[in-house]
Order: sequence, then C-alpha cells, then structure tokens
Amino acid sequence: MTTPAPQPKRTLLPDAVERYVFDQCARETPLQRQLRAETAGLPGSQMQIGPDQGALLAMLVRLMGARRALEIGVYTGYSALAVAAALPEDGKLVACDVSVEWTSIARRYWEQAGLASRIELRLGPALATLDVLLREGAADSFDLAFIDADKREYDAYYESCLRLVRPGGLIAIDNVLWGGAVADAGETDPETAAIRALNTKVRDDPRVECCLLTVGDGVMLVRRVR
Ligand code: SAM
Ligand code: CA
Repeated sequence: MTTPAPQPKRTLLPDAVERYVFDQCARETPLQRQLRAETAGLPGSQMQIGPDQGALLAMLVRLMGARRALEIGVYTGYSALAVAAALPEDGKLVACDVSVEWTSIARRYWEQAGLASRIELRLGPALATLDVLLREGAADSFDLAFIDADKREYDAYYESCLRLVRPGGLIAIDNVLWGGAVADAGETDPETAAIRALNTKVRDDPRVECCLLTVGDGVMLVRRVR
C-alpha cells in the first residue's frame, strides 16, 4: 500500500457552504452515499471527490455520449462509480491505481452497483499502465480521461492522455488549484510547482482548448482539438 500524500481541503468553499453543496445540491445514489460514509473513516478520505464533482463527471460522460473512459487515481472508487454508471451498458472504464488496499473497497462497491463488468482495473504505476495501453493500440480511443493521482506526474499523465483520448475528446484534471497554493508564489513544493506548470502549459497549448472550473479543488477541462 502507498501512503497518500497529505492533500489540501477537498473544496475551496467555506465549510458550511461545502456541506450545503454536498448535502443539498448533488443527487447521490444510496450506494454512492454509503461509499462516501465508509471512506470518511479512512486515512486519505479527503482524496475522494465530492458528490458535486461526481455529478459533473457523470454529466460530462452523458453529454459527450462517451463510451470509453480512462481514470488515473481510483482510491476507494467514488469517481469511477460515477463515471461507469453514466456510460452505456457496453461502455468501458479503464481505471488505474497502485493500491490493492483502496481498490479492494472500490471493487466491492462496483460489484454491488452491478458495474464491475464495465470497469477494468489496472493495478500498477499509472505511467507504465498508460504506456501499455498505447502499446496495445489504444491511442485516440478514449472519449474522456480523468487525472487524479500523484501530482508530480501530472504533466506526464497529461501527455499520455493527449495521445490516448481521441481528437475532440476530453481530459479532466483534478486539484488544479491545490487549495489555492498555485496562486501563492511563495509555495514552491514539488506538487504545487508541478500543478502550476501544467496549468500554464495547458493554457498555452495549441493542441487543446481548456476551461478551468472552480468546482472542488479546481478541475481543468481540456479538449483535444487535434
Ligand atoms: N478519484 C478518486 C476518488 O474519487 O475517490 C481519488 C483518487 S486519490 C486523489 C489518488 C489515488 O492515486 C490514490 O488511490 C493512490 O493510490 C493513487 N496513486 C498514487 N500514485 C499513483 C501512481 N503512480 N500510479 C497509479 N496510482 C497512483
Ligand atoms: Ca482529487
């Protein structure tokens, strides 16, 4: 098991507003609620996306008519559950993580939701998994990718995902505001520096269009244009 690095708060909202958004503004299935409750008692629980982000990912999948999705960073499986439920019955989510411990919880919930056959879990360092996918001929084959694993590798995940999603496909990158640290020039730790550099790179990248949503801890939506 890898010990998750400490992360900033899951959203930039004041606590009371965050509670309101989570409790009143996002429709969750009973199983999603159960997974959120079980995860709340675990180390690293702040790594889980909020229900508002789960709804956003599901909405994007449906709006795009996505059939093939890729996730980098599964943890206990909440975002994968949201994405897989929104895919068509013959859709596929390839989900990458290194942790057997966390993903065994994820697998249990995917089974209970009847979505296990739609989710292919690939255990191992995600960069290696993405290389394998490219070698298997999966370039240009994904409609959507969600990047939410170790922040220092974000640029490498971005580059691999740009090859794996089809032209017109979407990459959603989580935690791009990193608790606000990216806007503080005094914050120079490696995670903050990596995220800050990628934000600038994406903004100036002619291969993509982008749009930063201030939902959660910041989600960068990146559409591959060529
Ligand atoms: N998307 C998840 C959710 O909604 O609950 C949260 C993912 S959590 C922020 C990050 C995950 O990335 C952890 O489960 C961790 O095990 C995984 N991870 C960290 N380094 C990794 C690596 N090099 N390759 C694959 N997964 C990694
Ligand atoms: Ca995250």
